[in-house]
Amino acid sequence: MVHLKSQREIERMRESADVVGRALALVAEHIRPGVTTRELDRVAEEFIRDHGGEPAFKGYKVGRHVFPASLCISRNDVVVHGIPGSEVLEDGDLVSVDCGVKLNGYYGDSAYTFSVGEISAEKAELCRVTYDALHAGIAQAVHGRRVGDIGYAVQHHCESRGYGVVRDLVGHGVGRKLHEEPQVPNYGERGKGKKLKAGMTMCIEPMINAGTGEVIQESDGWTIRTADLAPSAHYEHMVLVQRGGPEVLSTFKYIEAVIDAPYKQATLSHG
Ligand code: MG
Ligand code: MG
Repeated sequence: MVHLKSQREIERMRESADVVGRALALVAEHIRPGVTTRELDRVAEEFIRDHGGEPAFKGYKVGRHVFPASLCISRNDVVVHGIPGSEVLEDGDLVSVDCGVKLNGYYGDSAYTFSVGEISAEKAELCRVTYDALHAGIAQAVHGRRVGDIGYAVQHHCESRGYGVVRDLVGHGVGRKLHEEPQVPNYGERGKGKKLKAGMTMCIEPMINAGTGEVIQESDGWTIRTADLAPSAHYEHMVLVQRGGPEVLSTFKYIEAVIDAPYKQATLSHG
């Protein structure tokens, strides 16, 4: 059952998403070679709690596995759900950071992939393609279209450029719960799937690999890694479906005020 949000609920979600965006920007300021992923997690958790929120992922349960941290930090061939710890970031790493916040009863959820120091042209291009795929998907989040239109847009953008689309994990509705209906796959057929209605709020989050879309899950119950160990990128926005066009409820503006986005580096390196 898909719950259509009221204006009041949407305002709450914007507030949660704003804390997420600012927490990610703070993380961006701390990303450098030599920092541990645990330190980034600590900085984000403190920021979230200082702003009246709760980290949405900490204590999140799937079966017998409980997620122990506030951020998911996924380095290089780790696609998503990497657990922060003693791992040290190195020059040339690609690191996706996913942040969830519960504030005033509503969830915010957004992710961004950062470069550590200088990354290869291949990694930068992967980021650019994934970032553009996210926006191609968002453009389809319009009343009357279907979930398959979003998936098709993401899939077509990436596969036509030779990238692998992860199918084992999907985007999702969001609101009073972190994961609501509908599921929002990053693949699909145009005109197929659940119909989109004004007032639906969803996370669109392409997980795109430089190699195949195949992934494996590690024995910790969380870490998702590419099967061929090729690098992976992940960007996520919270989107409100409307009649006139989508509204993005989350924001990268704070992040992009403190970094040069990797996809911009790719554009430069190609002249
Ligand atoms: Mg997320
Ligand atoms: Mg999500």
